[in-house]
Amino acid sequence: MLVDKFGRQITYLRLAVTDRCNLRCTYCMPAEGIVYEKRKDILTYEEMLFLVECFVELGVTKLRLTGGEPFVRKDFVQFLVKLNAINGLEEINITTNGTLIAKHLDKLKSLKKINAINLSIDSLNKEKFSQITRRDSFETVFETLNLLLEKGFKTKLNVVMIPNVNTNEIKDFIELTKEKNIAVRFIEEMPFNGVGKRKEAEVWDKTKIYSEIKNNYTSIIALKSEKSSTSNNYKIENYKGIFGIIPAYTRTICGGCNRIRITAKGQFKLCLFDDGILNLRPFLRQNASKEDLKLLFYKLIDNKPKNGFEAEKQRKKTIEVSESMSTIGG
Ligand code: SAM
Ligand code: SF4
Repeated sequence: MLVDKFGRQITYLRLAVTDRCNLRCTYCMPAEGIVYEKRKDILTYEEMLFLVECFVELGVTKLRLTGGEPFVRKDFVQFLVKLNAINGLEEINITTNGTLIAKHLDKLKSLKKINAINLSIDSLNKEKFSQITRRDSFETVFETLNLLLEKGFKTKLNVVMIPNVNTNEIKDFIELTKEKNIAVRFIEEMPFNGVGKRKEAEVWDKTKIYSEIKNNYTSIIALKSEKSSTSNNYKIENYKGIFGIIPAYTRTICGGCNRIRITAKGQFKLCLFDDGILNLRPFLRQNASKEDLKLLFYKLIDNKPKNGFEAEKQRKKTIEVSESMSTIGG
């Protein structure tokens, strides 16, 4: 088992299968995009499978596939089929921008371990959606949302709170939960955008997001969540769905963290805010055995920082976070 020095057991791996994306969300990358890793430096699916198997043998039961946009990578669905067959892995979740997934939904439905699909949709207004993503995919993504529900997927919506852009849509998103059995999650914006902190922006942290909701509703019910939950969850009385606030930047959820990450190029991350503690690719390409790797992970886990602030302080390359979320996996 992987247990860190604060007694937190690691059961959840987030794996970025690519750093490439077909959208250009303003909070994630600059308009011209980012410099992608060379293809040869991205882990192969075989290497990723090997790593997932190692972690499952060390007690990981839950996997999230993310990116970049996972469905941009060729043969991603075949990769999911292989992951679905790993003994001991209980749950596979996917985070996607929803532009390319629709034609795969029946196949995904047949894979029993696929549990939840997190769909990123930051506006319910077509023009604003284009402004945020710098692409015109609103109809496709909204249609995907309806398809996901029709086909019975557990569906969560990721909504990054962008000051002066979509914060006036909080109520519209909550109103979606009236009839739809979905979980809408409002995410604090972080400076993972390829540039760094925006100076002029108003801060929409969890307190401000909650007070905006409180101004609009009198019947908010606080829900009990698992200790490792990344969101504080609520619902409006008699609404079918729920909503949550993800304090991604305030980092008040670190105490229950059960997560580790691997980036597309094989960087092992113990925290979203660290800058990668070791690149696993050379180990994989020099044919390290599962036993070698498991021993390595067992030792590395001791370095998991107490929280995201500690992780940020210990960064080696750039002190302030500024890398694109597309390279680290959200
Ligand atoms: N392309 C997929 C998508 O957008 O869902 C998966 C990768 S994306 C990096 C994963 C999640 O990170 C998305 O929900 C996205 O909104 C979120 N994200 C990206 N940049 C962010 C930032 N600077 N602050 C907060 N969340 C961010
Ligand atoms: Fe692409 Fe997702 Fe980043 Fe948007 S948030 S640019 S969809 S990786």
